[in-house]
Amino acid sequence: MRALPAFLLAILAAPLPAGEPRPEPAPASPFALGDVRLLDGPFRTAMLRNAGYLLSLDPDRLLHNVREFAGLPPKAPRYGGWEGAGVAGHTLGHYLTAISQQFAATGDARFKGRIDYIIAEMALCQKAYGDGYVGALPPLELSTLRGFKRGVIEPVGPHTFKGGAWVPWYTEHKVLNGLKDAWILGGSAQARDVALRLADFADDITRGLTPRQLQSMLSVEHGGMLDVLVELYALTGNPRYLQASRRFYHRAVLDPLLAGRDELPGVHANTQIPKIIGEARTYEATGEPQGRAIAEFFWSQVVRHHSFAIGGNSDFEYFFDEGLTSHHLSPGTAETCNTYNMLKLTEHLMAWGPRVELADYYERALYNGILASQDPDIGTFTYFMSLEPGLFKTFSTPTESFWCCVGTGMENHTKYNAAIFWRSADALYVNLFIPSELTWRDKGLVLRLETQYPRDGAVRLAVVAGGPVRATVRVRCPAWAAARVSFQVNGAPVDAGGEPGTYAAVSREWRAGDVLAFQVPMAVRTEPLPDNAQKVAFLYGPAVLAGDLGPGPRPEASPYAHDQRDNLDVPPVPVPTLVLGDTPLESAIVRSKDGALAFRTEGLDHPRDVTLRPFWEISHDRYTVYWDVMTAEQWRYRDAPSIIRQ
Ligand SMILES: [Zn+2]
Repeated sequence: MRALPAFLLAILAAPLPAGEPRPEPAPASPFALGDVRLLDGPFRTAMLRNAGYLLSLDPDRLLHNVREFAGLPPKAPRYGGWEGAGVAGHTLGHYLTAISQQFAATGDARFKGRIDYIIAEMALCQKAYGDGYVGALPPLELSTLRGFKRGVIEPVGPHTFKGGAWVPWYTEHKVLNGLKDAWILGGSAQARDVALRLADFADDITRGLTPRQLQSMLSVEHGGMLDVLVELYALTGNPRYLQASRRFYHRAVLDPLLAGRDELPGVHANTQIPKIIGEARTYEATGEPQGRAIAEFFWSQVVRHHSFAIGGNSDFEYFFDEGLTSHHLSPGTAETCNTYNMLKLTEHLMAWGPRVELADYYERALYNGILASQDPDIGTFTYFMSLEPGLFKTFSTPTESFWCCVGTGMENHTKYNAAIFWRSADALYVNLFIPSELTWRDKGLVLRLETQYPRDGAVRLAVVAGGPVRATVRVRCPAWAAARVSFQVNGAPVDAGGEPGTYAAVSREWRAGDVLAFQVPMAVRTEPLPDNAQKVAFLYGPAVLAGDLGPGPRPEASPYAHDQRDNLDVPPVPVPTLVLGDTPLESAIVRSKDGALAFRTEGLDHPRDVTLRPFWEISHDRYTVYWDVMTAEQWRYRDAPSIIRQ
């Protein structure tokens, strides 16, 4: 048995004295959601589409189980999919977070009305449950959860307890987090009361358990309980919540990470990421360095050694060995929840010190994992993001799926404005090039970012109000940039740095009318798989370029699925092989002459050339992200049909 970390021993051994949290000062922080307004572009379009979906859902249907299991008559029928299963209520928690973020970002009163209504209903149900609990857990899951207090802890696998009870803490984390967001972002004082009563319940359930019982309980997926409880500690200063959070420190996963050991292959991916986010938040709230060490090690291992070109990870939800990636291009790659959680984790690391590598990853995953995950017609969500060549994306139905990735998906498209700009004491960080308007209250400036990026690399940041005020604007120069990023202020070139992989800096007195313009050079580049240099993805700027293989998936399947596994048996279509000529691979991918972000292979493919487009623009067509590449000689000596079928 490994020794407990000293910090954990101290927390478990004795309660901390009451007092204020001791947050670590953050070198950078994001802006409030309401300070950044998206302007026209694909992200604003996705946000509006998602808002329409959120408004299409009926709060009384989402509350069905909460009322029924509290002994109150439901007001509307329950939804289908996972809302009729053991994780019932996880959607309600995500929904509360999503509408709270949407309200914070836009001030739209329709969302505030929904927040207040749902919270009032939940307060009523919490009273009926009687012990502080509130949620929608069916009787088996709820009795399992309550049984923990008596030491009845009987895990039968990574996702279930005895009798098939499905992840009760995982579900309750979503509910508690949604209540917290309704309080902090949604402005609901009643949500604070309901959230803290539920947190007290979680403390009450776990307080008397032995370390062995706790670790047994934690062997089953439990979401971000550590994270939300330490967040409540940071918000209230009540050490009760810090102590409760430490009971969710899962040693089997976190101890090896603390020791710098990557034991991730074979581990369920999305079960773990929220635990690491919780450790990151613990570092911020307490200053204890172990949380930071765990988070930084995990982030670099996952991003550098366990991720695909689109920024996602895992195959059928599990991490695998980097040396086997080419064997894992399956219909079950890159669960969307994982990308959602990796972006959350990246935001923590960014706050500890902005680095271009963090922002480069964030951009890659945001465009190719998140923007790409929304159905353009009805605003629903992917679960897996298939990377098997020749398959297609499968999306949820509006009301009969409600998978985990539907819940996180609802949140994803409400916060595109969250990580564009960051600030430190005297500097503004421009991390993403998404059209938007920033109100920088500390400096009294309003700035507008306008661009067609990544269709072209020209970005214009204009001061539209305020000043004069002295500040430094730091612009991310992506590591993949094809050359130095060049800068102009009010039309005159300035030396701001601009080496790829660094932040450029422009320090001056800014005033209304000033314009900082810069150009991010982009070119087609390739990324081979780590274990097979002859399987490559193409990228242009932040865009993973996918080969558009034509209409699919009909008639053998539907792009909208009740079960996330519905399309796993649909066969792929043949995918052309790239056969190299005398020119480098990159130069054989030629951009469309009309300026669109579209490319075409020229004279490379057997049996035909193919159009490549950003992965986020390919929604219902068949596609491939990874291509087989051969020399002419290899091609000649291979059996063509077997190559094409790959
Ligand atoms: Zn998911």
